Amino acid sequence: MKIGIMGGTFDPIHYGHLLAAEEARINLGIERLIFVPTGDPPYKRGNNITPAEDRYAMTLLATAGVIEYSVSRIEIDRKEPTHTVDTLREFLASGIKTEDLYFITGLDAMLSITSWFEYEKIPDLCTLVTARRPGYPVDEIETLPKFIRDKLKYIEIPQFAISSTEIRERSRLGKGIRFLVPHLVEIYIESNKLYKI
Ligand code: NAP
Repeated sequence: MKIGIMGGTFDPIHYGHLLAAEEARINLGIERLIFVPTGDPPYKRGNNITPAEDRYAMTLLATAGVIEYSVSRIEIDRKEPTHTVDTLREFLASGIKTEDLYFITGLDAMLSITSWFEYEKIPDLCTLVTARRPGYPVDEIETLPKFIRDKLKYIEIPQFAISSTEIRERSRLGKGIRFLVPHLVEIYIESNKLYKI
């Protein structure tokens, strides 16, 4: 069974992420897609990230009822600093085969892969998949080492002109975020007054 790991901070999760996930699922024949919100990313300390439990709750609300989707607490519950390589190893240890494991994330995140912990091990553990927004240059993929490009699949999401940064800013300014995020996520953000400062 092909398993997709959808990694991201998801602060907040939005329709761009969901479209990317679904496009990857359909194009690659992925049967189960597991959203993995980051815990306390060491590379983002001090960046005023929303608590992991709120990001996890929003990811649950956004994916509820989609039979092929689930959300994992694997990185949130990890006590040590959280790294993608450890997450992939844990999924493989549960019996998933390397050839059936896909790691999906955004292009700008993927372009920084050579700074990730033990990044050189990652292509041996899974197939990498990346999605991009319109207007974002893809040429930079060529700057990645060949052993990474050889394991990288690329999907284009025409509608993916949404970003979490834009949503946080709109929320802070009191602009609407309706139709950018699922309705329950919008309610969660408003009820918990996220992104107000
Ligand atoms: P990010 O800075 O939040 O995101 C970077 C870019 O990619 C943003 O433009 C973001 O869009 C987009 N993006 C993020 N996740 C996406 C997804 N699943 N689908 C489509 N676009 C996505 O990066 P991040 O979320 O922290 O990191 C992404 C993944 O890389 C996570 O799983 C993280 O654990 C992993 N990572 C691992 C290491 C390590 O092992 N040391 C280091 C860095 C990243 P939005 O802003 O709209 O979300």
